[in-house]
Amino acid sequence: QPVVAVVGRPNVGKSTLVNRIIGRRQAVVEDIPGVTRDRVPYDAQWNGRSFTVVDTGGWEPDARDRAAAIAAQAEIAVATADVVLFVVDAMVGSTDVDEAAVKMLRRSAKPVILVANKTDNTAIEMEATSLWSLGLGEPYPVSALHGRGSGELLDAIMDALPEAPKIVENRPRGPRRVALVGRPNVGKSSLLNRFSGEERAVVDSVAGTTVDPVDSLVQIGGETWQLVDTAGLRKRVGKASGTEYYASLRTASAIEAAEVAVVLLDSSEVISEQDQRILSMVVEAGRALVIAFNKWDLVDADRRYYLDKEIDRELRRIPWAIRLNLSAQTGRAVDKLAPALRKALASWETRVPTAQLNQWLTALVQATPHPVRGGRAPKILFATQAGVAPPRFVLFTTAPLDAGYQRFVERKLREEFGFEGSPVEISVRPRK
Ligand code: GDP
Repeated sequence: QPVVAVVGRPNVGKSTLVNRIIGRRQAVVEDIPGVTRDRVPYDAQWNGRSFTVVDTGGWEPDARDRAAAIAAQAEIAVATADVVLFVVDAMVGSTDVDEAAVKMLRRSAKPVILVANKTDNTAIEMEATSLWSLGLGEPYPVSALHGRGSGELLDAIMDALPEAPKIVENRPRGPRRVALVGRPNVGKSSLLNRFSGEERAVVDSVAGTTVDPVDSLVQIGGETWQLVDTAGLRKRVGKASGTEYYASLRTASAIEAAEVAVVLLDSSEVISEQDQRILSMVVEAGRALVIAFNKWDLVDADRRYYLDKEIDRELRRIPWAIRLNLSAQTGRAVDKLAPALRKALASWETRVPTAQLNQWLTALVQATPHPVRGGRAPKILFATQAGVAPPRFVLFTTAPLDAGYQRFVERKLREEFGFEGSPVEISVRPRK
């Protein structure tokens, strides 16, 4: 989601403008210099496009003088945002305090929109035209308080935003795509056979669904699912089809085509390198993950002891995967599969509202700040969720974060928001 940053001296009406952009009717925040400001970025929409607005006014703790403060804001805005709104008071114009900021904004490659705020009437609007001289292009006369000119400003912001990425989130309605993978003999065919009874009837009854010929539509837990690339599982021509190399390619492409993967493991054996490779494929492809320990009917007390001790260690990289103990042969716990798939997919598509995300983050970094490194500690300014399926987050920071601290943030993020059954990607965008 693109970020729009609002820069300007105290008292030019940045908070009022932010409120106007997000369409929030609430008490107008007084723009008093020195007052701790709400740093939380907000989600906004205009003409069907979503973006995030941040008021950079809160980020000037070290600046002694006002000129340095606004220059610091501008710098952060340029580093983190896709579009910068530079706000001046139309009655006052740009002051020498703004100079440094204007210079750096003019040099930056980021689109900058000049907002002449407090343009409450046409007389002031005439005044505002003189702001052309700043070299930031056409001034947009706006009254954030009364709404005058805000539609034109929002249109200009939309024009300046980067091209909207093709929305993959609007997947066509139809069955969810599941990959059933695992090394030979873990019981994939056996499990598939459990679900295949009603299959033909289902294929006919789901009107208008186009399914790849190698896929199967099956009923699991009262719902139709598309099991991708089941052709290979059905054809039991003597031994497993093809070499291990082709089997592995096939597994990779099934995972790629799916939204959620069920990785079958054999509970009567140790977790092998091949099992680990398959698990890694799922994580790297960014798919939701359910691990099914099959052949649970073979597990006795001794074996259980091993499993309890070893499995957590073997799967320590993916503690978030949903785990099931089942038996394709006896049918034990097979009914748990559909709820697990639904849960993993729900996590995979979770979107955390920006305000909620940043409220949590502010509390986290306050309680546990980044360790000091060479006399300074990198700061996390704010975060946005860049996408779903899987959830992807971007942290905007003053400097690169230590790997350990980044893992800590991810762990805490999961504690707060769950994401059970889904990988989560976190990237850090340090300002340069
Ligand atoms: P695939 O290669 O992964 O498709 O594995 P298959 O479904 O062909 O199963 C391999 C072997 O394991 C067969 O002999 C199955 O009967 C057996 N098997 C599959 N699931 C179970 C299970 O839950 N319990 C037990 N005891 N055996 C199973």
